[in-house]
Amino acid sequence: MGKNVRILAQLQEIDLKIDSTRGEKQALQEEIDSLEARVEEMRQAITGQNAELDAVEEEKRTLEENLAAEADAINRSEARLREIKTQKEYQAVSKEIAAAKKVKNDLEEQVLQKIARAEELKGIIGEKEKEMEEFASGSASLKEDLHVRIERLDADIASDTAAREAAAKDVSPSMMKRYLMLREKRQGLAISEARRGSCLGCNMNLPPQLFNSLYKVDNLVVCPHCQRLLYLRQEGDGTVV
Ligand SMILES: [Zn+2]
Repeated sequence: MGKNVRILAQLQEIDLKIDSTRGEKQALQEEIDSLEARVEEMRQAITGQNAELDAVEEEKRTLEENLAAEADAINRSEARLREIKTQKEYQAVSKEIAAAKKVKNDLEEQVLQKIARAEELKGIIGEKEKEMEEFASGSASLKEDLHVRIERLDADIASDTAAREAAAKDVSPSMMKRYLMLREKRQGLAISEARRGSCLGCNMNLPPQLFNSLYKVDNLVVCPHCQRLLYLRQEGDGTVV
């Protein structure tokens, strides 16, 4: 069997380990991202409610200004009333005052509604802020733990990458190119073990003659079904299983 293929099989083992570590790392990162997204979502909801509170308070201020203007007008009309001489004019101004008082009452009612709504919103905002702080502090240790695990995985990736580079030195550039292309096309598995007459990469039977040729040293054998490079796994004592 080709020496290159045996080295590539080892290399592939490292590559598969790196792939899986990277996948694990990504899953942890996604957990962190989703915790952060949850906090951000809560923060945005609070921002929205604060904007609503600002609007309600602005509306309340406008109503209060109108209310003050209405009260002034009533005071002026009442002062006028004292100087009126004719019955007819007196009735007309009295009518005006009654109408203005009704408007004033309506405005007072609206101000009270705005105050109630503002209080309600303040309560909701307070609750949501508390909820957000609790969630953020509750997930802080989990996030810390996830970061530590990611650091460990990064260290694993770094040492595996160093081992990979050391193994790759013994592979010819053309074989390396072939390996990388096959890995890309075959879901990361370029080199496949052949066992009991089958290719373990695609589980298809290999022609007996082809399988037997694997026992010959320095013979490069390709699976006719999946085009992966084949090798025989040898136990420590060198016997083929
Ligand atoms: Zn195959």
